[in-house]
Amino acid sequence: MSDTHLTMLMGNEAIAYGALKAGVNVVAGYPGTPSTEVLETVAKHNPGPVHVEWSTNEKSALEVAAGASYCGARALVTMKQVGMNVASDPLMSLSYIGVKGGMVVLVADDPGPISSQTEQDTRVYGRFSKIPVLDPTTPEEAFAMMPLAFDISERYNTPVIVRPTTRVCHARAPIDVDFVYAPHPFDGFERDVRWIIFPPRSYRGHLEMNVGTVKLAHEFSSSTFNTIIEHEVTDDRATALAQLYAGNAAAQELATDTSSVRKGIMTGGVSDSYAKEALTSPEFDGASYRLATCATPYPFPEEFALTFLAGLDEVIVFEELDPVLEQELTYLCGKHRLAIDIHGKLTHDTFEAGENSSAAIRGQLDAFFGVEPPEQPPAVVEAPPELPMRPPVLCAGCPHRGSFYAVKKALKGQRAYFMGDIGCYTLGNAAPLDMVDTCLCMGAGITIAQGMQIVDPNAKHIAFVGDSTFFASAITGIINAYYNRIDITVIVLDNSTTAMTGHQPHPGTGVLMCGDEAYTKPGPAAEAHAVSIANILAAIGVDPIITADPLDLAASKKAVEEAVASPQVSAVIFKSPCIALGKPTTPYTVDEDICTDCRSCIREIGCPGITLRTEEDGSKQVIIDQTLCFGCGLCAQVCRFDAIGKADAR
Ligand code: SF4
Ligand code: SF4
Repeated sequence: MSDTHLTMLMGNEAIAYGALKAGVNVVAGYPGTPSTEVLETVAKHNPGPVHVEWSTNEKSALEVAAGASYCGARALVTMKQVGMNVASDPLMSLSYIGVKGGMVVLVADDPGPISSQTEQDTRVYGRFSKIPVLDPTTPEEAFAMMPLAFDISERYNTPVIVRPTTRVCHARAPIDVDFVYAPHPFDGFERDVRWIIFPPRSYRGHLEMNVGTVKLAHEFSSSTFNTIIEHEVTDDRATALAQLYAGNAAAQELATDTSSVRKGIMTGGVSDSYAKEALTSPEFDGASYRLATCATPYPFPEEFALTFLAGLDEVIVFEELDPVLEQELTYLCGKHRLAIDIHGKLTHDTFEAGENSSAAIRGQLDAFFGVEPPEQPPAVVEAPPELPMRPPVLCAGCPHRGSFYAVKKALKGQRAYFMGDIGCYTLGNAAPLDMVDTCLCMGAGITIAQGMQIVDPNAKHIAFVGDSTFFASAITGIINAYYNRIDITVIVLDNSTTAMTGHQPHPGTGVLMCGDEAYTKPGPAAEAHAVSIANILAAIGVDPIITADPLDLAASKKAVEEAVASPQVSAVIFKSPCIALGKPTTPYTVDEDICTDCRSCIREIGCPGITLRTEEDGSKQVIIDQTLCFGCGLCAQVCRFDAIGKADAR
């Protein structure tokens, strides 16, 4: 990469560059915040020979990477934490089979959660599957860890998980990316029974994993990513800051024989930066402590941890999500009969859910050290005014609004339940649409609708699913409905993109990740092939399958009525591109002479482009904000007084 240099990189970009530095050959993934930019960065800076793809889902991505690895290629898989649930089936088996070329599974966790269904901790997946986990504390570390991850994968014959969290993924740091990409050499697949997961192979694989785990825990104990800093205050003077590395005999001696430090702090992930920042507060100037950063949570580096624990009376652990490090330390104290109190999530001394912060950790450290924070000088600036609440809402002009509204109108008066799914359209739950009764995980709306239909056959059960989710996780659920003769209606919200994660292409778009067209018909009339949702539904046996424009309210309502009336699995495909893919058309406006102030347009569809203007006499007038209106025309179809029309026609 001849044009690379020291540059400010987002954590996800740093991870991508780290993979390129390691000579990665194949990258596959499924978009999901906070992981998405990793694969996109490889695609953007693809030096040529790297195969980069958005796969249909995380399971497919992981299996593509496994196949490449079997041939000796280096492969990277990217996903967010809930994607790991989808990929876990092949991953669990792969840990028994092993790999050949280095294989790294990049899973971004989302403490908070900020944009996810769960707060699951991928470090636990590492322990569950016996797959090593690297846990970067900063973007710089994430960059440096990637080549190591590929190296460990090859030396230990195992996939390796790299698990950044949101704040590492999205933070920025200057990173030297002045390297030349050299593709990892690979020699192809060699037939061997080791690739076939028969039970005897799994038994042997299990033993191999156990041996590798012990060996790698030992190696991790001397990893430079795991550090110990001792801040010792003797007599009345602040003294030495000594950086100790496990395995360093002199350091161990210092820790065990001469140190008077009795309190320890262990950190993992971004909590390390928060804790280090908190410790710069003046109330800790006189505190003696030992601070250990553990960036390799699985297999846990026991020797490193024992060096850290030597001579301590109590330890507090700062980590997000699950108490992984805390449990390891508690176990270690029991195993070695160390009388050390371990504080953390399990003892309710640190946050048990959600994100950590420097301020929160400072407060928890105050309590741990029994010190008072210094009095703050009186504030010299007024606090800024509180910002108004801005609840998440479908964009002005979003075609999903028309889809939800048409379904609502079509089923008015009937007992009906509406299953949502993962995507922008989960926002259909908000008033005034109120069209999402359940939302669980990718594709689940379709199968939840079936379970409800089985036990409540007299109600109508409608499942909404986006186009990208359709390909990722919905097809098997629809087959299940057809096969088991369960009468549901599937509403496919096809906006021609994976909108929520940043408009990535999917099989229905006919475009590949690197901008090329998908499989193209040979011959003079070459034509890109997009996978047809309608054809898939037809092949399953869904009937009827009606395609409608959700911005045509009358036609959309009629389509839903027809589909719902069918005594078997039926579908409506609402096809209209996401507004972010196009440009606004002429905005609409309210004719104030005709408007009766009935406010149906506000109450019925909730477009943020429709608002109220306060007049001089204090009365309100419904207006359309010309800067927000996308010109979709839905409100004009809702107004029964014909008071709304295109701005240039009034
Ligand atoms: S036309 Fe009406 S519904 Fe459509 S974006 Fe404009 S204000 Fe919103
Ligand atoms: S629906 Fe029509 S008449 Fe009623 S407030 Fe809106 S613009 Fe005015």
